[in-house]
Amino acid sequence: MVRVISLANQKGGVGKTTTTINLGACLAELGQKVLVIDIDPQGNTTSGLGVKKVDVTEDIYDVIINEMPLAETILHTKRERLDIVPTTIQLAGAEMELTSMMARETRLKEAISTVSANYDYILIDCPPSLGQLSINAFTASNSIIIPVQSEYYALEGLSQLLNTIRLVQKHFNPDLAIEGVLLTMYDARTNLGTQVVNEVQNYFGDHVYQTIIPRNTRLAEAPSYGLPIIDFDRKSRGAEVYLELAKEVMKNNA
Ligand code: ADP
Ligand code: MG
Repeated sequence: MVRVISLANQKGGVGKTTTTINLGACLAELGQKVLVIDIDPQGNTTSGLGVKKVDVTEDIYDVIINEMPLAETILHTKRERLDIVPTTIQLAGAEMELTSMMARETRLKEAISTVSANYDYILIDCPPSLGQLSINAFTASNSIIIPVQSEYYALEGLSQLLNTIRLVQKHFNPDLAIEGVLLTMYDARTNLGTQVVNEVQNYFGDHVYQTIIPRNTRLAEAPSYGLPIIDFDRKSRGAEVYLELAKEVMKNNA
């Protein structure tokens, strides 16, 4: 059975895209068939997986707005078992266009259902907002991974995210679960990092992954080469921890 997971936090720069790319690649490394769907109009997952936006002719906008079959937009990446549905900046218009459309919340869910038999995991990289695109992602998902940056105000804004999750559970997707809360960009050299880890663990309890993603410059460098960390620098700490995370995610779903 496929597991559809949204990566969400309406704060920008917390590691959603880095986690989508690298969790996706590490799940593929572990033998899973993975589809990554980029629904952030900025398209950092698209470019981070080596797809040049100028070469994209069909993207997730065409699927959500024009009802193009999702299969027609899927591209293979250089990594075996890892596919992507790209986005381009035209998706930025979709938030507005969706508000006047029929069945607007379930469009992505319907599209995904046509390809889900081909995958073990489908990861959706969400934009830094809680609008129609994120609601489409949550409606289409079994669960949500919430990346949280290990810094001051880590928990700020999370109540809004949890409210949106509750609304989607109530109206569109009663089974939507929290897959896990992931601490990112952790710096072991500061007391602050440790304090934030404790605070997030107190708030989310068992939902917090044991794997904590440290700050690692190789993780920030890899996207400009269009490669996931395990293909860019396999020996880096970043590659090790994302492999650990993939194992933890698989263990939780075994
Ligand atoms: P989001 O998708 O939530 O906006 P990103 O994944 O794009 O966040 O991360 C924001 C920035 O931080 C990017 O430049 C990314 O390369 C960098 N980054 C993310 N995770 C790490 C990490 N663990 N160590 C160092 N840099 C990171
Ligand atoms: Mg992003």
